[in-house]
Amino acid sequence: MADPTRYTTPPVELPLDPWLLDGTPANGCDVCMALARQRKAALGKGDSRKAFEAAAEIRKHPHGRRK
Ligand SMILES: [Zn+2]
Repeated sequence: MADPTRYTTPPVELPLDPWLLDGTPANGCDVCMALARQRKAALGKGDSRKAFEAAAEIRKHPHGRRK
């Protein structure tokens, strides 16, 4: 499978897969909303690690669900 790539691929700035920055804040969840703001701010500053951490927090947040 050594098919040469003819098109140029854009330089990858983030050593992360796009899904690592994924994460949908739950409606009405203050924590998620705050994390989403942090993620956006971090991305704006180019701080991909912080953005990733915020996204991860959103993904694993229980959104107020109680056990
Ligand atoms: Zn949440």
